[in-house]
Amino acid sequence: MRNPTSAAPTPADVTALARERFAGGANLVAGRLTQGTSGRTHTVVDPATGADVLTYELAGAGDVDAAVAAARGAFPSWAGATPGERSDAMHRFAGVLAERAEQFAQLESLQCGKPLKLSREFDVPGSIDNTAYFAGAARHLQGQSAGEYSGDHTSYVRREPIGVVGSIAPWNYPLQMAAWKVLPAIAAGNTIVLKPAELTPLTSLLFAQAASDAGIPDGVVNVVTGAGKEAGEHLVGHPDVAMTSFTGSTGVGRRVAQIATATVKRLHLELGGKAPFVVFDDADLEAAVHGAVAGALINSGQDCTAATRAYVQRPLYDAFVSGVADLMATVRLGDPFAPDTDLGPLISHAQRDRVAAFVDRARSYARLVTGGTVPGGALKNGAYYTPTLIADAAQDSEAVQAEIFGPVLVVLPFDSDDEGIRLANDTPYGLAASAWSTGVYRANRATREIKAGCVWVNDHIPIISEMPHGGYKASGFGKDMSAYSFEEYTQVKHVMFDNTAVAAKDWHRTVFGDRP
Ligand code: NAD
Repeated sequence: MRNPTSAAPTPADVTALARERFAGGANLVAGRLTQGTSGRTHTVVDPATGADVLTYELAGAGDVDAAVAAARGAFPSWAGATPGERSDAMHRFAGVLAERAEQFAQLESLQCGKPLKLSREFDVPGSIDNTAYFAGAARHLQGQSAGEYSGDHTSYVRREPIGVVGSIAPWNYPLQMAAWKVLPAIAAGNTIVLKPAELTPLTSLLFAQAASDAGIPDGVVNVVTGAGKEAGEHLVGHPDVAMTSFTGSTGVGRRVAQIATATVKRLHLELGGKAPFVVFDDADLEAAVHGAVAGALINSGQDCTAATRAYVQRPLYDAFVSGVADLMATVRLGDPFAPDTDLGPLISHAQRDRVAAFVDRARSYARLVTGGTVPGGALKNGAYYTPTLIADAAQDSEAVQAEIFGPVLVVLPFDSDDEGIRLANDTPYGLAASAWSTGVYRANRATREIKAGCVWVNDHIPIISEMPHGGYKASGFGKDMSAYSFEEYTQVKHVMFDNTAVAAKDWHRTVFGDRP
């Protein structure tokens, strides 16, 4: 690995690092790297060039069983550690992550095609901050205060870990998703088996290794990298897994819910999104245009909260459309490792083709304002797609209703405030939204009436460790990050002490005997 302060890293350097670091396989079970035993392999590919990065053996059911057994074995002593001990270990964990920040950024950019500036300034520091946050929060698990609610008893609530958590993560933010899954689970005293997406295991493995190197006991954090249908379903249905936490598409989430329900598991689902971006006619137009381009294109639009549907009040509509098109034209596609690159490729050629097919179908029912092309030249081997703006699509059209998950923004006009809010709510999803206005009453109304787990005002995308992230409607239920995530990863127990020391208690008369 090159020193980040000397020469810029190259994909070849980072590929060599990945091959050296993960030669032992793409599972981390009880602190050791292992190869999967499914009999099938997967190759991580650099989406910017199509070059092979790392071939590994996919995990099968036996590997999941081994990881669950390791997590089960580690549970009693981790759950029994004091909050202070868990907190100390997690503070050390945050320290190890910070020391390896540049390595995380480079591996994340290599496997995802993210511009290095995005990995360095968003994914990695966000994950380190999450770790530091949960290291502190581990000492603040609270139950209701004790009291004599019946008069004759003292009641209190214990907040307890659930057991082994089985988590499944997507490929769009592999490091952040690993952090969001692992940190609240272990801060609360659970142990975990994480299954990253097959395409992007590298930073999840590095994250789990950092936990181990920080002194978090082996078996507390395990990783198995296998196919969704095989390793994923086996993990969800596993009888020794007490909770499933899934982040991914709504379609797969439905399948996961069926399996988890059949085995009566605690379930947390973070699913797809189709975030509206509502611009009222008193908005700062320049701010809205900048916000729309950044919000739509971040991570090549492969962001569950990305701005995907801009609704713009009629007086600003034409200026907004031309402003967004002009700004999109300035966005520089290129090598994720080049310092002047704004936008990298999509995660894979298959995902690029899927996005292109959505746009191609939209050409027949809407107006393509800009984009909609696959760049050639130096980018021809990568999974690149140009920033795309679609106008004049009907509200019930596919481009407005379906999650495209690419650098594509759809823009529609509206007249009254009522209409803007109604259209914003008119998809199955409810993960995130934004309202753009300089009027406090208007913006406040939008925050109340838009049905989404997060509503920004005059911004779109920022997240923070202290605040919850999670969906309404078909975007799922449960919260990541913040103290709210402990509602998912703990269970509460009512403890009730009799205070009377009387053998024949008054209430026993409801079962036998008469009132004296
Ligand atoms: P996906 O649903 O295809 O896969 C997600 C994970 O599920 C992967 O690890 C995959 O291997 C696994 N999987 C696939 N089939 C499975 C099965 N039958 N049983 C168990 N596991 C299975 O999603 P993706 O394409 O990797 O990611 C993109 C999706 O994730 C988008 O819909 C996006 O909105 C969503 N997402 C949501 C959030 C959120 O916080 N709500 C965050 C990031 C991504």
